[in-house]
Amino acid sequence: MREGAAGVTPGEADGDPLVQSRAVGKIRIHALDAGVARLDGGAMFGVVPRPLWERRIAPDERNRIPLALRCLLIEAPDALVLVDTGVGNKEDDKFLDIYGVENRGDPTRLEDAVRAAGFQPGDIDLVVLTHLHFDHAGGATRRRADGSVEPSFPGVPHVVQRGELAFSALRNERVRASYLPLNVEPITDAGLWQLVDGPAEVTRGVRVIPTPGHTPHHQSVLIESEGERACFLADLCPTTAHIPLPWIMGYDIEPLVTLESKREMWRRACDENWLLIFEHDPQVAWGRLDPAGKELIQEGGGDSG
Ligand SMILES: [Zn+2]
Repeated sequence: MREGAAGVTPGEADGDPLVQSRAVGKIRIHALDAGVARLDGGAMFGVVPRPLWERRIAPDERNRIPLALRCLLIEAPDALVLVDTGVGNKEDDKFLDIYGVENRGDPTRLEDAVRAAGFQPGDIDLVVLTHLHFDHAGGATRRRADGSVEPSFPGVPHVVQRGELAFSALRNERVRASYLPLNVEPITDAGLWQLVDGPAEVTRGVRVIPTPGHTPHHQSVLIESEGERACFLADLCPTTAHIPLPWIMGYDIEPLVTLESKREMWRRACDENWLLIFEHDPQVAWGRLDPAGKELIQEGGGDSG
């Protein structure tokens, strides 16, 4: 793996921890390392000029920047909840090369991380998908040795916004590279979707909040216990470099909607002192906004949990 100018070498090569754990009130949460992907740096930063973004995350020789595939395991009082699932094991070598995916494990690094957190994949009671792009929903299904594809978490309800499932089926020219049918159809065939419309408490202490823009029905996940709050932002703000309001991905379907979603979420995050969790930041799992809502105050990695 080439080391970026900023010295960023995430993923399996450098011994990053599979799990970082901490408490939110009485709820324990685990940031799971489900591997690395690499996406075009220009596309990741939209209208931000390269001289500005490359100082934050250095690109490789193919102009790609390294991105974590960080999922969240939540020990809610009534359910063990997994938020997002990484890329999974179904894609071929060409795909893995284009997107620079590293997630080797048994069967993927995600399952290894679940075990490192002290659980088995079969212990998960509820899967929440922020949206259905392949780097979030890919691990919800898996390819078996005989080539067939099945749900990775059989019998487990999968929460997604109803509108996101409908949008993923459009597969128009602008979005179809991100929505792969094998990530969605086996869940549909098994009757595992738990569709929600708008904000919803999916289990005690865990709420989904619509944060549209990246996709029209993208959602973030808010954890609440004993007056403490943490928010898994997903692609509303994929890395800490995307905290400034206009730093918005070129991938976003509705960037001006992202802008307003982010403005509203940063207001709440400052007012209520949220811990923010970053799905794709190559180095930083979480932190809090400074009172002006402009930069991140990093916190320790929690404990080894
Ligand atoms: Zn993503």
